[in-house]
Formats: sequence, C-alpha cells, structure tokens
Amino acid sequence: MQKTTRRDAVIHCMRIVSAACLLPAAMRASAAELACVEPGSASLRESLSYVDPAADAKQQCGTCGFFAADEAKPSCGQCMIMSGAVSRTAHCESWSAKG
Ligand code: SF4
Repeated sequence: MQKTTRRDAVIHCMRIVSAACLLPAAMRASAAELACVEPGSASLRESLSYVDPAADAKQQCGTCGFFAADEAKPSCGQCMIMSGAVSRTAHCESWSAKG
C-alpha cells in the first residue's frame, strides 16, 4: 500500500480547490455559447433593445438581412450589426427583412 505524505495531501487539496474555482467559469462560458451571447456587445444590445425571443415571430434574427446562419450552432448566427453571435429567435431595433 502506498503511503500518502503530507506533501501529497496538500497537492491533492490544491487540485480540488483549483478545480472548484475554474469549474464555474467554464460553466459560464459554456452557457454563453449555448445562449448565443457575444459578451463584448452587451451595451450595443441594450441600446438596440435586443431581446430573445422576439415579440413578433416574423421579425426574428433568422429572417433579418444582417443575419448569417452558423452551421456549428444552428440556434445561433452571426449578426453584422452586433459583430458577433446572436440567437436565431431574437430581435433588435435594427431588424431589416432579408432582401
Ligand atoms: S440586426 Fe438585430 S434583428 Fe438583425 S440579426 Fe442583428 S440582432 Fe438580429
């Protein structure tokens, strides 16, 4: 049987504490990915009244001329106005029908 030294116990505890600190950050990043959020555009979203879901299903990001679908994330897309990810079902004041 292997003897556990005090040093081993301290290292093991440090690994557990590190994992406990990093896990919430990783989960937040994962949630942001799933929510189609571009953290850098928070103020722009607010100023253009970005909401998800859209009040009018006919005026969702998915039908907007500034929207480009994202093959890797079908519920998300890239918006030219927001310079990043948006939800296909969202809406903002810059909505414009695809031409
Ligand atoms: S301009 Fe507004 S409605 Fe159009 S894709 Fe971007 S966020 Fe959605």
